[in-house]
Amino acid sequence: MSNPGTPGGQPGPQRTTDPVPADPAQAYAELAAGNRRFVSGAPRHPNQDAGHRAAVADGQHPFAVIVGCSDSRLAAEIIFDRGLGDLFVVRTAGHTAGPEVLGSVEYAVTVLGTPLVVVLGHDSCGAVQATREAVTTGAQPLGHLRAVVDAVLPSLRRAEAEGVDDIDGIVDIHIAQTVETLLGQSPVLAAAVAQGRCAVVGVSYRLAAGAVRPVAAVPAATVAGAAGASIPVAPAT
Ligand SMILES: [Zn+2]
Repeated sequence: MSNPGTPGGQPGPQRTTDPVPADPAQAYAELAAGNRRFVSGAPRHPNQDAGHRAAVADGQHPFAVIVGCSDSRLAAEIIFDRGLGDLFVVRTAGHTAGPEVLGSVEYAVTVLGTPLVVVLGHDSCGAVQATREAVTTGAQPLGHLRAVVDAVLPSLRRAEAEGVDDIDGIVDIHIAQTVETLLGQSPVLAAAVAQGRCAVVGVSYRLAAGAVRPVAAVPAATVAGAAGASIPVAPAT
């Protein structure tokens, strides 16, 4: 449903209440379409008007959970061109997934019925760089930053084992590793995926270009046909 303008031909404020995607592949396609609008400089800013704000006040039905890095350049509703009530967003530095993150994902998937979980990482990720620096120098990070470094460390070890040493290659591995962590640590999420009610996709965002590229998907068919999806990395289970 859309309201492209006011009577008389004057362009009014964008007002849309888009249909809610019901299945994982549809939800991913919707996110990918929004990202393409953002990249091309022609965003629609759907679901951001006062009418929609009132419409969703009584309940939320987000079609995707975003488990993203906290990086200030990674605002989910902006880069996927969405609005209020669309995305259930959980962000930590380096999209590390501890108990509260897992609980938040499970809430969205089980209580809200959200059909898609997206791990959103990005090039030049500071959390990955900090972890590499800690390993290289042997210096312990200060305070609770150590928890972030400890959570990223398995991805760094995996990259070493695979002979990957460029930061963006390590980021891709860390995104795939986070997808595995979510599924491995949350039997609730794994069951929803096994039943076809939900999918988990890892995407890598490029800060300068603004585009996302899938690097992992369970099941892989979720991103079939999506731009840049020719080489999805199916995480080992
Ligand atoms: Zn980051």
